[in-house]
Amino acid sequence: MSDDCLFCKIIAGKIPGRKVYEDDAVYAFEDINPQAPTHVLIVPRRHVATINDLGDGDAELAGRLVLVARRIAAGRGLAESGYRLVYNCQAGAGQTVFHVHLHLLGGRNFTWPPG
Ligand code: 5GP
Ligand code: ZN
Repeated sequence: MSDDCLFCKIIAGKIPGRKVYEDDAVYAFEDINPQAPTHVLIVPRRHVATINDLGDGDAELAGRLVLVARRIAAGRGLAESGYRLVYNCQAGAGQTVFHVHLHLLGGRNFTWPPG
């Protein structure tokens, strides 16, 4: 855990968060400022600042984040209607919280290219 990381504090229960899922390696919670009817953040329990900081040994962890997203999406009836998974890596891509998080967005239509 990183002492000055917002998402580490949510995972540790030190600040409130609306938990959606947890297991030994992955934690998921509702985004505080949802951009779609479903907007869940799926994060590794371990503090990893950006996608750049994942190592070759993190293949299983990276895969588990996606599989948790798939499971939450299915549970919310989004498997057929569709959903979007997004990682913002670094400020230039819109990353504002430097603890890796996968955005699961669903429940509305999305356009491409993203803004
Ligand atoms: P980023 O811009 O880094 O890809 O996404 C950060 C996300 O974290 C944003 O969608 C933002 O709404 C969300 N967020 C920021 N602060 C909090 C918070 O205190 N609690 C929760 N649940 N989400 C937060
Ligand atoms: Zn963290």
